[in-house]
Amino acid sequence: MSGVNEIRSAFLDYFAKNGHQVVESGPLVPRNDPTLMFTNAGMVQFKNVFTGLEKRDYARAATSQKVVRAGGKHNDLDNVGYTARHHTFFEMLGNFSFGDYFKERAIELAWTLITKEFGLAKDRLLVTVFAEDDEAHGLWKKIAGFSDDRIIRIPTSDNFWTMGDTGPCGPCSEIFYDHGEHIWGGPPGSAEEDGDRFIEIWNLVFMQYEQTPQARLPLPRPSIDTGMGLERIAAVLQGVHDNYDIDLFRALISASVNATGVEADGSARASHRVIADHLRSSCFLIADGVLPSNEGRGYVLRRIMRRGMRHAHLLGAQEPLMWRLVPALIREMGRAYPELVRAEALITETLRLEEGRFRKTLERGLGLLDAATVDLSEGGELDGETAFRLYDTYGFPLDLTQDALRARGIGVDTAGFAAAMERQKAEARAAWAGSGEAATDAVWFGLKEKCGATEFLGYEAERAEGAV
Ligand code: ATP
Ligand code: MG
Ligand code: MG
Ligand code: MG
Repeated sequence: MSGVNEIRSAFLDYFAKNGHQVVESGPLVPRNDPTLMFTNAGMVQFKNVFTGLEKRDYARAATSQKVVRAGGKHNDLDNVGYTARHHTFFEMLGNFSFGDYFKERAIELAWTLITKEFGLAKDRLLVTVFAEDDEAHGLWKKIAGFSDDRIIRIPTSDNFWTMGDTGPCGPCSEIFYDHGEHIWGGPPGSAEEDGDRFIEIWNLVFMQYEQTPQARLPLPRPSIDTGMGLERIAAVLQGVHDNYDIDLFRALISASVNATGVEADGSARASHRVIADHLRSSCFLIADGVLPSNEGRGYVLRRIMRRGMRHAHLLGAQEPLMWRLVPALIREMGRAYPELVRAEALITETLRLEEGRFRKTLERGLGLLDAATVDLSEGGELDGETAFRLYDTYGFPLDLTQDALRARGIGVDTAGFAAAMERQKAEARAAWAGSGEAATDAVWFGLKEKCGATEFLGYEAERAEGAV
């Protein structure tokens, strides 16, 4: 059985052997790309290479890219802890061709890796292609020897990749692994595709067009961009049916079990998973220079951290917990990502301070939440005013409140929340209008008094949306 660290190396070695330059992961905060909140795919660091704006001295590359999907176009935050296959932070393994090889070679390389090097059984595999991509359909038939029922044509944008409204684009083909009948779920394109039985392990993008405002033109030198979730392929190779059962997550969850003294079963199972996942995204984001704050990237980090911290509280932790798990993460991932080791002191202090601060308001906020929902049953909705008070006075990000009510099947009136936020903004503006400095001070003192010793999270907090 190979561990995550060996699988990562095996992937990179395989592509190196096949003429690819192994390139380091780009940072989680993309360089020179203010439109993108976090790096959310392996191709991000190569965007300008694909468009031809930038030249490199290699035409083939392979990476293991750090990725966060917790905001913007790809947001998997709400899935974490509840599906077997989603993380907020994960590693995306990828091979890239910049106008070098194309569709046939890309499919061949992928097929050889998973069936020959990794030894996956062919009868567990199936693929999707874009409905109009007869070429890919024919190639899968030829290379893998699949019958037609194992090559599923998908007509939606799920199988057509675009960089933006204009720029390179093209059809894609996703490779799925069938974890077996005992797990709920159906093949891609079916009504049950959201289950955890058929899991997408690898996505091959065939960049063959250029979208201009007028037309979609064929690219003279088409390119390849692929992404495979390291944790998902590790689950397959380790014979487990859940990403959270791979060696890496078992180690993190066992650190969380040891620190809390609570076994990872029953309702505690999701909490340990959320903590392990959010620990990774928090530590990697801090190592790449993000600090918790009230807007933008920092607020997404704060939301992730506080969600994890609420779950630590749920497990009965009496003291800040997450910082104590940092050594376990560094043991598992520090060799592959030395930035974690370099930033260890900063990560530890940041986690400890944030959790210490949040714990001061967490308990009272949860008390208020309980009181406000005591009469609600499944299908009910928390009023927006209370959700806003929890946010404004107790430092509860909206999604944390939603997460806290999820197990009881209670929702939140988000329109009411937004209205309460708007009203407060308008009041603040009115207080500012036409006043001199003395009045300005009055606004600030007023706010301070209102928030007391707790925390004022700022009006801009929900603006933290990125777009790809
Ligand atoms: P899904 O449909 O399962 O959400 P996706 O199509 O959104 O995946 P891609 O954008 O194609 O994912 O990313 C490439 C690969 O990264 C996927 O094939 C999958 O193996 C992995 N992956 C995507 N999202 C996650 C996630 N949240 N956690 C772990 N791995 C992921
Ligand atoms: Mg997705
Ligand atoms: Mg998909
Ligand atoms: Mg995909």
